[in-house]
Amino acid sequence: MPEGDILRRTASTLDRALSGHQLVAAELRWPSAAGIDLVGRTVVGTHAYGKHLFTRFDDGRTLHTHLRMEGSWSLEPTREPAPGVRAGPRGRARGAFVRAVLTTADWTAVGHRVGMLDVVPTRDDQSLIAHLGPDVLADDFEIAGLPEALERYRRVAERGVAVGEVLLDQTVLAGIGTIYMAESLYARRIWPWTPGADVADPASLMMTARVLMQRSVQAQEGGGPSPWTDRQAHGRSGEPCRRCATPIAVGDIGQPPRQRPAFYCPTCQAAPTRSDRGVRGKT
Ligand SMILES: [Zn+2]
Repeated sequence: MPEGDILRRTASTLDRALSGHQLVAAELRWPSAAGIDLVGRTVVGTHAYGKHLFTRFDDGRTLHTHLRMEGSWSLEPTREPAPGVRAGPRGRARGAFVRAVLTTADWTAVGHRVGMLDVVPTRDDQSLIAHLGPDVLADDFEIAGLPEALERYRRVAERGVAVGEVLLDQTVLAGIGTIYMAESLYARRIWPWTPGADVADPASLMMTARVLMQRSVQAQEGGGPSPWTDRQAHGRSGEPCRRCATPIAVGDIGQPPRQRPAFYCPTCQAAPTRSDRGVRGKT
C-alpha cells in the first residue's frame, strides 16, 4: 500500500505537470463521478495529506483520490492530436484498471486502481480529512503537528493499543503504513506489540518515521537509489537482521479482520520483560 512518501512524490509530480494548464480531455471512470465534466477547467494544484490526494480546479471543485491498496498515478506525454481531433489519452490510459484520466496539451495523468475517487467543492475538501491526525510529512510537522499527534497518540495508547497499531492509526498520525511502522520501530529497537503507553519517547519515534519518509521522498525526487533496497525490516522475513544477523520475523498487528503484517528483529526488538516494565514504572 502506498504510504505518505509515495503520495508526496505523486502530488509534486502531478502538480508540476498539470498546474496552470487547461484540461483538453478528462474522464472519471467511477460510478458516482461518471457524469462529471472537467474539460476546459484549469488545474490549480495538487497536494497530498497523509494518503489522500487533492487536485483542485479553477471552478471551485476538487478531485479527491485515495490510492488504497494498489493505486497509482502516472504521467505520459499527450499525443499531438490530429487536426480537428481533441487530444486524448493513449497507451496505459486505455487499461481496464484506469479510473481517472486528466489530459492537458502536454501531459496526461492517469489514475490506476485508485481505491476512492470523488469530486467535491474545494471549500469542503479539507472536511474529508478532518478526522485524520497531523500529516507526518507536513513542512511544519515538528512545530505544529507533533504536539497534537502526541496528544492523539496518548488517547489511543491509554486504551492498551500496541505501539505498531497506534502508528498505523491515521487518526493519530497521517501517512504511515506498514513499511514505515516497521522501519521506525526497528530503528528505535521497539517490539511492535509493546503497549503504546509503555514507549518511553513516542515523539522520537514519530520523528524517526518522518526522517525515514523524508529520505525516501528525497531519494525519489533526486533520482537516487530506490528506498526499497534500503529497508531494514519490512518485507525481509527470514533474511538476516543487518545489525545482529537474527532472521527477521513477521507477525500480525491489529485486530482481525484488519490485522496487518509487522516485520521486526526478535533480538534487536525483543519483547519487554517484566523487569523492564518494573524499571520503567519506577522512573
Ligand atoms: Zn537484530
